[in-house]
Amino acid sequence: MITFESLGLTAPVLEALNAEGYTTPTPIQEKAVPHVLAGRDLFGCAQTGTGKTAAFALPLIERMLANPQQPGPRRCRVLVLAPTRELAGQIYDSFKAYGRNAKIKCAVIYGGVNQRPQGTAMMRGVDVLVATPGRLLDLVNQRLVDLRTVEYLVLDEADRMLDMGFIHDVRRIVAMLPKERQTLFFSATLPAEVRELANSMLRDPLEVKTTPQATSAETVAQSVFLIPQKQKRSLLVHLLKTEGMSRVIVFTRTKHGADKLQRDLEKSGITAAAIHGNKSQNQRERALAAFKSQRPPVLIATDIAARGIDVDGVSHVVNYELSHEPETYVHRIGRTGRAGMTGMAVSFCDHEERPRLKAIERLIRKSIPVRNDLPEFPTVDFGPEANSAGRGEGSMGGGRRGNSGRQGQGNRSRGGSRGTVIGGEGGERSRGGDDRRGNSRSTIRHKHTRGGHTGGPQGQRQSSGQDGSSAQSQGSQGGDSSQGGGQPSFGGTATSARPPKRKTHRRAL
Ligand code: AMP
Repeated sequence: MITFESLGLTAPVLEALNAEGYTTPTPIQEKAVPHVLAGRDLFGCAQTGTGKTAAFALPLIERMLANPQQPGPRRCRVLVLAPTRELAGQIYDSFKAYGRNAKIKCAVIYGGVNQRPQGTAMMRGVDVLVATPGRLLDLVNQRLVDLRTVEYLVLDEADRMLDMGFIHDVRRIVAMLPKERQTLFFSATLPAEVRELANSMLRDPLEVKTTPQATSAETVAQSVFLIPQKQKRSLLVHLLKTEGMSRVIVFTRTKHGADKLQRDLEKSGITAAAIHGNKSQNQRERALAAFKSQRPPVLIATDIAARGIDVDGVSHVVNYELSHEPETYVHRIGRTGRAGMTGMAVSFCDHEERPRLKAIERLIRKSIPVRNDLPEFPTVDFGPEANSAGRGEGSMGGGRRGNSGRQGQGNRSRGGSRGTVIGGEGGERSRGGDDRRGNSRSTIRHKHTRGGHTGGPQGQRQSSGQDGSSAQSQGSQGGDSSQGGGQPSFGGTATSARPPKRKTHRRAL
């Protein structure tokens, strides 16, 4: 049996793992740790929840122990870039936990809070700096952080960095680092842009890919509607109103699609919240808080935004569109049927998505029952705007047929739509006001916090409250409370080269 010891970890780290209650390495740890220990670059395709943080943190702590050095003022030896403050906080907690016997000094930097404690924490230098890109650039520009001696770079959730528009910031930071360094690159999905970014940063990397566990595929009742894209909204409205879906996550492929669907549901009298990468941290937190309190019971999410959130009691997952990556299906349906509860996953598949359905069925090694028990459901006329999003959405009459017309063929005439059209003006109604005031309470439950570090005796990280996230770093926790309510929670301000956000995405939830 593979043990942490056999991976090459030494006593201080092994004792910390023991204290954490880790007995055996996860697959990604098994694959990555020996190579990172040997100094190799790494390209890891892995989701949160696979143990990937330890997969990079453990060997990096060992590497620093093997070559002890005093980091100079304002400097760090390991730089970890993460897209959100939650993730940055989790990684910081992990390094503190795994490095507790190795006397590893850590700091965490993210936006939306007062920067002063962060600058103070960096004054004497640290071994490990975990940061979101925008705020890090702010501090570098003020000469409060010096990146010229970084030996190890970790880029975590690269796909999400891209999704959130941090790519320019990341490139600027990487350009400041020594060329001679070890780089570990992680992403849950591998779109072409991520590969390109990885190629520009890595040297002869070891590629490690973890396949998600397909267990939820066995515990969740699954079904699929073969239905034209243009009828999906009507079907969704029908199901939400008739199938006792008490708490639903609806997955869309695109951010735009998520926003669009939210508006359409509202027109049908269904309150829904949408989260995706273009929403501000506070907007996302508010959406999640509302969802959890069932005030809207419907959350529309893109895959990347939904990652890392953990909501109990989800009765249904709806795959409104099927992803190109079959693994995504397993992750999506894993959001329901948790903790022994029954869960249902309903997928909508149009003609063009059939190959994706086949790929999913191959991955989970079973076929998903096709539902054709649907009685006629009313077709809702969402107005001209309804057809502007999504692909191939022409008039109701003239669309694709293919083999996707097996059900949901009910009332297809537009003019005769019986659907309830509420608020059919299609305007952008802002319900929330200024979301940046940020009086939301973060209810995101992070997997790592079960280790007891967050909010533990040292009172380390808290990312909740009146945008009063206290960005504690070593020796500076709690001192300076936030006043950063007017700032997006992640990332910086003046230095950011990221493209302007589209207006629709700034809409309060
Ligand atoms: P991550 O994928 O890094 O977010 O880790 C997911 C969760 O798994 C965290 O709560 C870790 O504390 C936990 N974890 C990581 N490695 C192990 C392990 N080898 N055994 C048990 N739990 C682990």
